[in-house]
Amino acid sequence: MKIFSIPESIAPNLDAEHPLPQFPVLPQSKALDASGPSRSLFVELVISSSFRMRTYEERLATFKKWVYGDRSKCSPHAMALSGFIFIASDTAQCYWCQKTLDGWEEHDDPWEEHKSHAPYCPYVQLFEKPPLNITIVELLELMRGQEKLKLKRRHEAICKEFETVFDNIIKRYSEPKGKKHRRLI
Ligand SMILES: [Zn+2]
Repeated sequence: MKIFSIPESIAPNLDAEHPLPQFPVLPQSKALDASGPSRSLFVELVISSSFRMRTYEERLATFKKWVYGDRSKCSPHAMALSGFIFIASDTAQCYWCQKTLDGWEEHDDPWEEHKSHAPYCPYVQLFEKPPLNITIVELLELMRGQEKLKLKRRHEAICKEFETVFDNIIKRYSEPKGKKHRRLI
């Protein structure tokens, strides 16, 4: 069984007294019968998304072609610190909530913009101001929030699809306008 350890760069507050946790990595297909549903879910969560973009440094590295420089309020540094990754010249997306914001202006404060456009984001909910370092507990909380958000969106999409299918069936069985008698089952 492979052992997956969390890179030290994303848990800088850990020391010898608090060693990095190690998670067993299971093949996706076998994860569900590993050792009970709760542990399987945890393993799934850990392996379902890579660690890329979870750190400030990784996000910062994406902003090479960002429209604004270091002196602007929404500099690459401020954008990455506020959870964003570069998408296009003036478009960025939050790694944690996937909110995409475009049309950035030089005086925009990325943290304030993030909070106002995506107040549900686990990243802006967890911190009062953009954090330079995050602890392992904070990382796990962010992962939990991110996965919950993904599940919620998937659930909403399924509900919408279900509703559309039923709307079409109901429409097919509906009486033409003006017909006096109701069709009974
Ligand atoms: Zn966000």
